[in-house]
Amino acid sequence: MRDIWIVAENAAWAATLVSAAKSLDQDCAITAFVRGDEAAAKDAVTYGAASAFALPLPAAGLWEDYAPALAEKAKADKPAFILISSSRRGRDLAAKTAALLDAPSFSDAAQLALSGDTFSCGTSVFGGTAVRTASTSAPVVIVTLGAKSYEPAAADASRSGAVATLPYSAGAAKVTERKPREKQSVNLPEATKVVGVGRGFSEEKDLAAARELAAAIGAEVGCSRPIAEFFKWMPEECYVGISGQVLKPQLYVAVGISGQAQHTFGVRDAKVIVSINKDEECLMHQNADYYIVGTWQDAIPAIIKAAKA
Ligand SMILES: Cc1cc2nc3c(=O)[nH]c(=O)nc-3n(C[C@H](O)[C@H](O)[C@H](O)COP(=O)(O)OP(=O)(O)OC[C@H]3O[C@@H](n4cnc5c(N)ncnc54)[C@H](O)[C@@H]3O)c2cc1C
Repeated sequence: MRDIWIVAENAAWAATLVSAAKSLDQDCAITAFVRGDEAAAKDAVTYGAASAFALPLPAAGLWEDYAPALAEKAKADKPAFILISSSRRGRDLAAKTAALLDAPSFSDAAQLALSGDTFSCGTSVFGGTAVRTASTSAPVVIVTLGAKSYEPAAADASRSGAVATLPYSAGAAKVTERKPREKQSVNLPEATKVVGVGRGFSEEKDLAAARELAAAIGAEVGCSRPIAEFFKWMPEECYVGISGQVLKPQLYVAVGISGQAQHTFGVRDAKVIVSINKDEECLMHQNADYYIVGTWQDAIPAIIKAAKA
């Protein structure tokens, strides 16, 4: 029976990491480390962790400052795997912990497998256009995993286990100010239908048409990176792709998006992809199940009319 640690940005992610741990070893003993208070850590126990530690966010510190404490504990407890949520903070924490333990670390891994003592997994390369299979027999392996990488484990309130708080020691960087993010009404990763807008929209006011389309088909609105990062027409949390949100909706409608690999990485697991683009040769059409060659100015009103009918 292996000891496997999971380090989760939140309790929901802990449920996914529990499933990932069990896919490696059904009988493993899981120790969970969950960002937040002991109530969040306790949730991880209900998902199947044998014990859990809370990692509260220090007022003037960073979550990744827990790396030395995690590494010290790992040297003593010798877990076989440390599975970490693949948020920005999680990836930092993984890199620091891996450096302190001199352990291999795999980012945004998929298809985790164990054959004897040899671990293997797939990681995306070339902007998501290819998967590289990597393997190692190192005694401790660090892996970061996306929020949708495994079907989350079901909660069972009758499960019990010890819950404590991991001691924190401040790192060199000090947080001097925290500003709340622009309030997001959309939870894109949870949306079943998403309309993605790209640079085919030349003015911010034109996004109203995409929002109207989304409302007509019951979808949320996401975007390509330039719309959020360069034009600032939508919050950064709304852009889809390898450096943005990775989604798994039932339906993704890409409107005026060329379909570069960095974008399509974020929707490659969508069940159905529809592309609307005036360029018949665009990559998005090649990645789509259905496509419309035409402008959004023509296509959107026609789809809304059909949806309403
Ligand atoms: C390291 C790195 C990471 C990146 N990460 C991401 C990422 O996570 N997400 C992401 O999205 N991008 C990412 N990018 C950028 C990516 O490479 C593309 O530049 C970007 O996705 C292009 O956005 P777009 O499709 O909106 O714009 P464009 O490529 O300019 O495409 C616009 C499309 O709109 C079509 N069009 C124009 N007018 C109309 C009209 N009236 N009706 C219909 N169609 C029309 C055009 O034919 C064209 O295909 C990354 C790039 C790098 C280098």
